[in-house]
Amino acid sequence: MINKVIKLNKNRVRLAIQKSGRLSYDSQKLLKSCGIKINLQKSSLIAFAENMPIDVMLVRDDDIPGLIMDGVVELGIIGSNVLEEKCLTRLLTEEPVSYAILQNLDFGICRLSLSVPLDMRYSGILSLKDSRIATSYPNLLKRYFDKKNISFKPFVLNGSVEVAYNSGLADAICDLVSTGATLDANGLKEVETIYNSCACLISRKIKHLIPEKRIFIKKLLNRIQGVIKARESKYIMLHIEKDKLGLVTDLLHGAEQPTVLELFGNKNKVALHMVSSETVFWETMEQLKLLGASSILVLPIEKMME
Ligand code: ATP
Ligand code: ZN
Repeated sequence: MINKVIKLNKNRVRLAIQKSGRLSYDSQKLLKSCGIKINLQKSSLIAFAENMPIDVMLVRDDDIPGLIMDGVVELGIIGSNVLEEKCLTRLLTEEPVSYAILQNLDFGICRLSLSVPLDMRYSGILSLKDSRIATSYPNLLKRYFDKKNISFKPFVLNGSVEVAYNSGLADAICDLVSTGATLDANGLKEVETIYNSCACLISRKIKHLIPEKRIFIKKLLNRIQGVIKARESKYIMLHIEKDKLGLVTDLLHGAEQPTVLELFGNKNKVALHMVSSETVFWETMEQLKLLGASSILVLPIEKMME
C-alpha cells in the first residue's frame, strides 16, 4: 500500500513525522501553522496535503532517520537524541549516514541524563565506573564514557528505563528528562547531562533532491522559520512621554526599530509600537509603568516574514 502511494506521488515531497507520542501533536501543529492542510486519520499511515505538493507519513520516531538516510522520504521531524543515536548505530553497522539538519525546532526539548539512587554518594562520573547502566541510548552513553575513558556495563531497554533500577537490574539509568519529576518519584537523582536534545527538521542531502522539491522545501523552511519567529515574538503598544522613548526602548531587549505615532490632543505623549523578539515579562511591564508608560498592550503575533 505505502509503496503504491509513494510511486504515485514521486513528484511530491514526503515528510515523516511521529505517529503518536511526544512529538506528534507539535509536529502536526507546526504543519498547520505553515498553512499545510492535511486530513490525518488515526488508522492511516500517510496523509496527503490538499493544498501543497507534500505527503505526510506517520511512523514511529525511531524509523525516521532511516527513512531519510535510505532515501524513502525527503523530510522528517525527529528528536536530535534519536537522530544522533541512529547515526552512531549506522556508523557501527557501516550503513550510510547522510542527512542535513534544516532547522532546530522549538519543541521536544529535553535532555539525556544519568541518574543514580537518591541515597548514593555521588562524587563525579568515576563513581559509576563499571556500574550497570540501563538506557535506550547505548551509543550516546558509550560515547560519553569513552571520552572520559571510564568503563561501564550497558543494559539496553527500549522504554520504562526507571523500572530497571526499581527492580534492582541496574545501578543507574540514562534516560530522557524534561522536569525531573518522574525521577524523583522513582527515588532517583539526576547527576550528569549526556546530551541536550530538541526536535529538528531534517532532510535528505540537497544534492539528492530534484529542483522542484528543493524549491518547495526552501519555501516550507521559510514558513517554519516564520512560525518559530512569530511564536517567540510579541507586538508591543504603549503610550509614553516623548523624552522617555529612549528609556523604554532600552528596557525592551530584542526589539526592532519602533514606530512612533502622534497622539490626538496630547503633544507631550506618543504611541509606540514595536515587535520584540523576546517574551515580555510582568517585571518589564511594571518597569514600563514606573517610567510613566500607559495603555501597555502585549499581543501575540500569528505570522511573520522578514
Ligand atoms: P514511538 O512509539 O514513536 O517509538 P517513543 O515512545 O520512542 O515513541 P516518545 O516518548 O513519544 O517516544 O518521545 C519522542 C521524542 O520526544 C523523544 O525521542 C525526545 O526527542 C522527545 N521527548 C522525550 N521526552 C520528552 C519530554 N519529557 N519533554 C519533551 N520532549 C521529550
Ligand atoms: Zn521511539
